[in-house]
Amino acid sequence: MRRKLAAGNWKMNGLSAQLAEIDALRTAHPDPSVDLVIAPPATLISAMVVSAADHPLQVAGQDCHASESGPHTGDISAPMLKDAGASHVILGHSERRTDHGEDDEDVRAKARAALAADLKVIICIGESLEEREAANTLEIIAGQLAGSLPDILTAENTVIAYEPIWAIGTGKIPTLDQIGEVHDYIRSKLEARYGAGVGRGIRILYGGSVKPSNADDIFAVSNVDGALVGGASLKAADFSGIITALE
Ligand code: PEP
Repeated sequence: MRRKLAAGNWKMNGLSAQLAEIDALRTAHPDPSVDLVIAPPATLISAMVVSAADHPLQVAGQDCHASESGPHTGDISAPMLKDAGASHVILGHSERRTDHGEDDEDVRAKARAALAADLKVIICIGESLEEREAANTLEIIAGQLAGSLPDILTAENTVIAYEPIWAIGTGKIPTLDQIGEVHDYIRSKLEARYGAGVGRGIRILYGGSVKPSNADDIFAVSNVDGALVGGASLKAADFSGIITALE
């Protein structure tokens, strides 16, 4: 039985005052029955770890470099995230792929570095609108899975987030049948590559315009083990509604 996971991605949002949302989330969910992870900007990781002390909320980085250290101005390594108290890192988000030109090979190298630093990885994949309209979605997903995932991983240290690029921050979501088709396909690919035990244990999140109002329907779809949430993770009241739908 896979434990459900609600993950929030604050992206480039949040000053210290935003940590009040963590207090509100703690109050609303003192003992959540699902896993909770939030990825704040790097500047807030340590402070969020303190805000989440004595609560199961875990903290993630939004990216890491593939090297442990070195001359990479502005970058953050996996051991640095771990040292700051993060337990997870999001890798391969479409905004990283677009804004920073990251490809599947980069994502796989970062995943290897993160796993070596004892971080859990949330690896994002998803098709563009053009790819969806050209009926290439499953082919794109297969390529991203093959290229972005390391050969060695476990069900405990790896999460896949299916995020159609055209659904991120747009208010549009695929039909529930389309979500189910992709999640079932990802599951079959994971089982084929990693064996039934690992392949069935890896959690697959849906991401893209998840809100309290659509969460119940999305979470009822087969092989949806939770959500990666952007905009609606910034306000405790919204994220709380999504957590409740998952519980
Ligand atoms: C995301 O950025 O991962 C995301 C899913 O964003 P939103 O929920 O705002 O669509």
